[in-house]
Amino acid sequence: TESKELNMARTIIIEEVGGPENMKLVDWPVGDPGPGEIRIRHKACGLNFIDVYQRTGLYAMKLPHALGMEAAGIVEAVGPGVTHLKEGDRAAYASMPPGAYSEARVMPAAQVCPLPDAISFEQAAAIMLQGLTVEYLFHRTTPIGKGDSVLFHAAAGGVGLFACQWARSEGIELIGTAGSDEKCALAKAAGADHVINYRSADFVAEVKKITGGKGVDVVMDGVGKDTFEGSLDCLKPLGMMISFGNASGPVPPVNLLTLAAKGSLKLTRATLFTHIADHAKCQEMAQHLFSKVVSGDVKVNIGQTFPLEEIAAAHRALEGRQTTGSTIITL
Ligand code: NDP
Repeated sequence: TESKELNMARTIIIEEVGGPENMKLVDWPVGDPGPGEIRIRHKACGLNFIDVYQRTGLYAMKLPHALGMEAAGIVEAVGPGVTHLKEGDRAAYASMPPGAYSEARVMPAAQVCPLPDAISFEQAAAIMLQGLTVEYLFHRTTPIGKGDSVLFHAAAGGVGLFACQWARSEGIELIGTAGSDEKCALAKAAGADHVINYRSADFVAEVKKITGGKGVDVVMDGVGKDTFEGSLDCLKPLGMMISFGNASGPVPPVNLLTLAAKGSLKLTRATLFTHIADHAKCQEMAQHLFSKVVSGDVKVNIGQTFPLEEIAAAHRALEGRQTTGSTIITL
């Protein structure tokens, strides 16, 4: 019988849901990859708001569980049936299950993507989850193109700064909101056509002013509870509301009749994981994202970096609205 090689890797786990202090750095077993799996040694990993939802229990997981949804590194071993990666490859991913806050792990290979040499591990750790999200928001959720208008909330955040640049490169008019004048300036520099500080101004009134009373074609809302209602009021008749996050808390149940009253609005609650579930589609989306980064259409904004040991401080900064752009965790 074959004996399984069992290594240990420093890994952030939670045993109970709760605050940032619940995250623990432990030695966690890492075995050999099974069919369809790889073992990857991480060089950097990414911080995302979904990590907060998993830590607090808004998105439930069986505990104890490792955390982190995104990383980049080097493929160390490949299980049977994996053909798109080999030992020694540079690779990156945004993928379930959580476990990216670690030195190394075994995971399903389908969503792990070969990484072009032109993109560093740190850049990859910053772009996979947030960049693939922007890819599906702009290309796979509702038809949208040159001349269309989008309201994008938290435009100076991780997903936000990608969205501003992506919209500019596609000729889409983007109105970005952010929580301070400094953040508004960042969003504007990244390509937002208009910016609104939604902590000091009524964003619905501002959007009406900017659009001459017409409203926008699409709203992309990752803020959730605090902005949902107002977002609907910013749409043109037949407009599309894309709710994709809960940074301020989950959106309460929606009365469908509201959508009729506000002009036959469309509504989706979108998630990246639907889009990347298919291996071929995930790889295609990653190619698209990498080409945008390599061409310079989209620049990677790493706003802050924390070592793995300071993961609690990283979570506090993200939840406390202290971060801009992407945040990476170094190992
Ligand atoms: P961000 O870097 O955008 O950080 C969240 C930002 O939300 C804050 O910086 C803050 O910006 C804003 N915000 C508004 N209200 C609050 C509040 N009460 N508490 C905390 N933050 C608040 O995070 P990410 O780029 O990681 O993610 C952005 C959103 O997109 C999140 O909701 C995330 O869950 C969602 N997402 C969804 C995906 C999907 O496929 N469904 C995939 C990826 C991300 P400001 O101060 O400017 O208001």
